[in-house]
Amino acid sequence: MAVPARRVSSTRRDKRRTHDKLKAPTVVVCPECGQLKLSHRVCKHCGSYDGVKVK
Ligand SMILES: [Zn+2]
Repeated sequence: MAVPARRVSSTRRDKRRTHDKLKAPTVVVCPECGQLKLSHRVCKHCGSYDGVKVK
């Protein structure tokens, strides 16, 4: 198996990992039922999206 020719410096390693952090999901209040739901997702409480009943 190929092996890295050079040790990656801690600065370079940490710069790469700046993109690794997890972000809390964006929750919004559903305009149909007033429950919390994920943004840009069908509401799991009332099944609506953009004012339309989807399921
Ligand atoms: Zn809803």
